[in-house]
Amino acid sequence: MENKNCDCFIGFLSGEQVNKSNIGYEVESIEKIQPTFKAYGILKGEPLSKKQIVDNRRGYLSRFAFCPHCGEKLNWKSILENI
Ligand SMILES: [Zn+2]
Repeated sequence: MENKNCDCFIGFLSGEQVNKSNIGYEVESIEKIQPTFKAYGILKGEPLSKKQIVDNRRGYLSRFAFCPHCGEKLNWKSILENI
C-alpha cells in the first residue's frame, strides 16, 4: 500500500537529500554537471548515464529501505522506473 501523502525521504545522492518527488531532478542535475567536472579534471573516468548514477554499486546513491517519515517500505523498482 503506497502512502500518497508522504513525499518519502528515500536516501542521499552525492550527499544531497533525495525524496521521491525530486530524485529525477537530482539524477538529471548530476548527469548535466558531469561534463563540466570532466573538463576541470574533477571527474575521473567517463560521465555516467542516469541508470549508472542510480546503481547503488557505484556509491552515488545511498538508498533507504524504509522512509524515515512514514515508515513505508520503499519500492525501489518503481522509483527507478520513473527516472
Ligand atoms: Zn514516507
